[in-house]
Amino acid sequence: MRGLVVSAQWQPKEEYALTAEEEQSGRVKLANMVLRYPSLAVADRPDPVLSSEHDVLIRNMASGICGSDLYMVTSDDDGYMKLPAPFRVPVAIGHEYSGQVIEVGSAVTQVKPGDLVAVEAQVECGSCRACLRGLTAACEQLWDRGFTLDGGAATLSVAHERHCWPLTAVAERHGEHHAYDVGALIEPASVAYNGIVNRAGGFRPGDTVVVFGAGAIGLTAVGLASAMGAGRVLVVEPASSKRDLASTLGATETFDPTTGDVGDWFDSLGATGAIDMAIDATGAGSAVIPQIVPAIAAGGKIVSLGANMKPVEVDTIKLMFRAASVHFTLGHLGGGFPAVIAMHAAGQLDLTPMITSRFSLQDGVAAMDLAREGHHAKIIIHPHGIGHEGVIA
Ligand SMILES: [Zn+2]
Repeated sequence: MRGLVVSAQWQPKEEYALTAEEEQSGRVKLANMVLRYPSLAVADRPDPVLSSEHDVLIRNMASGICGSDLYMVTSDDDGYMKLPAPFRVPVAIGHEYSGQVIEVGSAVTQVKPGDLVAVEAQVECGSCRACLRGLTAACEQLWDRGFTLDGGAATLSVAHERHCWPLTAVAERHGEHHAYDVGALIEPASVAYNGIVNRAGGFRPGDTVVVFGAGAIGLTAVGLASAMGAGRVLVVEPASSKRDLASTLGATETFDPTTGDVGDWFDSLGATGAIDMAIDATGAGSAVIPQIVPAIAAGGKIVSLGANMKPVEVDTIKLMFRAASVHFTLGHLGGGFPAVIAMHAAGQLDLTPMITSRFSLQDGVAAMDLAREGHHAKIIIHPHGIGHEGVIA
């Protein structure tokens, strides 16, 4: 099969002791400590095969580019991959994707050939402490399509049936092309769903929600908060095009933080002390969290979805007096996929305005170059052509 493939050289840093498991599996726990001189190309990968009776073979149709994909092809000053996460090379990237089932193992009952599906990329072990507590996205032995297994930016993929969620109801309501687009957005939306619902326990209908950062994760949070019945959805984002998208997805008010003080803006809206849920989707927590703390409502919740690479100082006494709480999450497993698909199928949510550019697989390197510029909310790679040529059903 063809794929958008990341390669790199194995050159473990002196201070990094490779484990036997890493050497045997080829999956390193910290790519930034082992993998050097990463490169990206459209290349051949072995055809995936059904390795268990519960496996499903998928013709990949739409695959989103994520910020973490850029970390895989960006080097530090010494040439090491910047991604501080598990990785294995070579690998076809893409962990936000949809496709069509073309073959199923003998025991598969959840999907059948011809079904359109959104595919969960994370593969949980099912037996570690995190998995046994239901926190599968935090699995301690996680494999991950697009990181340590070939992913969605390739012509084919294989996944266990439990990771394949039918888009049938979305296709019946909106058509097949729209269903593939929705399918590629379910993963980032499920990351936000995990934080808002599964970790933080949601908010009450009519509550005030603020979202900092209208990148892909922030935009899905805006759409979800609106569809879930927030009274106000406030959005803080410097890029005007992303503020516009946030408004399309349900933001009631937006603010450019380069033009003034966020606290003053909250004051002007009567929102100071009345923010029931604050979602940080920026990765700039040291700037954002101090803006949230003075504005949080009694019992308010902070949901941290951005990856803060630097420590964040928090004035906890203020959160204590407000009986506030802070919630963290990473990844999409845990129930978000069927819920977000159902919201689309019911017409309560449409995240597809987030898609701002499309590329064929053969132009995948150009797609990543465009993503690096940072202006686009979501770029989609279509492994079988932008017009979805080759759809079976
Ligand atoms: Zn596990």
